Amino acid sequence: MTTDIGTGLPSIGAARARELADRLGALIGADRLSTDPAKIERLSVDWAHMSPILSAQLPAGRADLIATPTSAEQIPEILRVAYQLEVPVTPRGTGLGNYGQAIPLHGGLLLDISACRAVEEIGGEGDGAWVRAEAGVRMRELDTAVAAHGQELRIYPSTKGSTLGGFLAGGSGGTGSITYGSNADGLVTALDVAPCDGSGALIHAEGEETVPYIHAYGITGVIVRATVRLAPRRDWVAIWAAAPDYPTGTEALRALLELDPEPRLASLDEQAVVAALPRDPALDPARASVRAIVQAHVVDAAAALLRGAGAEVLAVRPGLVAADRITALSYNHSTFHLQKRHPEYFHLEVAGTPLWDDPDTVRSVYPGTVLHLELMRERPIGMLMAPYVSPDQVYTGMDALEEIGVSYHSPHNWMLDRRLDDVRAVVGRTDPRGLLNPGKLTPDGKDARWRPAS
Ligand SMILES: Cc1cc2nc3c(=O)[nH]c(=O)nc-3n(C[C@H](O)[C@H](O)[C@H](O)COP(=O)(O)OP(=O)(O)OC[C@H]3O[C@@H](n4cnc5c(N)ncnc54)[C@H](O)[C@@H]3O)c2cc1C
Repeated sequence: MTTDIGTGLPSIGAARARELADRLGALIGADRLSTDPAKIERLSVDWAHMSPILSAQLPAGRADLIATPTSAEQIPEILRVAYQLEVPVTPRGTGLGNYGQAIPLHGGLLLDISACRAVEEIGGEGDGAWVRAEAGVRMRELDTAVAAHGQELRIYPSTKGSTLGGFLAGGSGGTGSITYGSNADGLVTALDVAPCDGSGALIHAEGEETVPYIHAYGITGVIVRATVRLAPRRDWVAIWAAAPDYPTGTEALRALLELDPEPRLASLDEQAVVAALPRDPALDPARASVRAIVQAHVVDAAAALLRGAGAEVLAVRPGLVAADRITALSYNHSTFHLQKRHPEYFHLEVAGTPLWDDPDTVRSVYPGTVLHLELMRERPIGMLMAPYVSPDQVYTGMDALEEIGVSYHSPHNWMLDRRLDDVRAVVGRTDPRGLLNPGKLTPDGKDARWRPAS
């Protein structure tokens, strides 16, 4: 690895980049390659800037070349060339990951999958239905495609415009997770994965074999196509409620656990977050907001549960567009909107019953904490947001959260930090030269507590 004189960032050097471009141009056409500096800069970063700790380390990497193949079949051939020339490869969907997952820390090839977006086959029936698609298909397109077959996606992230491959490789869950869990909980029935082992072949993984490729940042291989389970399409309704305060809001959120069938999504924001969300007549910044996506035939029951817990129902809006508006305010979008108004805030992904049983103790960890919750069966998950002071403040608080029974996932870390054993079990075979998204796997296998030495 050399260093680019202009940027000071790791690079494969001009000569090797030219050789790479020549070889890849012969494979996929020179018009599918780019060395345009503005494009390289744009595609060499994701949403890492949402973390003040990562933000201070940007730019952390810059690709030497971008390749944008148009079909899944081209990807294993591209990886064969990268293997032969020993060039690092970072796959990328839409770059909506927020932890630097898609930053090419070692330079090399940025493999833009976003043009490989064919929906190949929709099969099965009822709960056994599935769709097979190329990895670059957007989740929204996929949902539209399966709707024509009376089906819907089981789980999708609040960034519904992101790719299927990026969601499986970088995301974790979202709308539908109350019922179906995370994207590693049986959503995926099969994957075709391109390894970087010089073979130019594809690995076909089914069932449990797919796990080492899910939420692995492409380190174990590039997902070129995926088959995911679907659910029979249902009529969804968005219900918006307001609660006088956060504790009442948590009561209202929990009351929705009694709904049968359960909501597809249910979120709670306290007032400071509500004030930062895009204006809507169903959002009252003086009150906490409780929003849910529920099936049309239980909307009255949902409204009764919310009212019974002390909330006021402000709007009931039928249809998927209305439901997706609630999706677009969920998960990390709460942080996104809060930071637009208050750039000084940092966030942590958190989980645990103290978030609704003992919020004052949770708030005592970081001064100025505000909370966003997502309903789950066992325990709530959510975003804890607070004014940022220093990395030490953030890390010390993580320990304090664990002591009070709140677990966290840190967005201040671009190292892979989940299911490392599964990844390590295959990576030596699928990427023997360590060329896939290098720099994201800690040598000593530390877990989510991993943090840089200060
Ligand atoms: C405001 C905001 C809200 C978000 N909400 C959610 C949410 O609700 N749920 C959730 O799970 N995530 C969420 N995210 C994170 C992210 O948007 C999603 O996970 C998204 O689905 C990532 O898709 P992408 O196409 O943008 O992937 P990218 O960001 O392009 O890539 C993500 C990771 O996967 C790797 N990768 C990309 N494509 C492939 C491939 N084909 N094969 C192998 N590796 C690949 C990349 O190298 C990178 O490591 C959110 C992020 C933001 C900024």
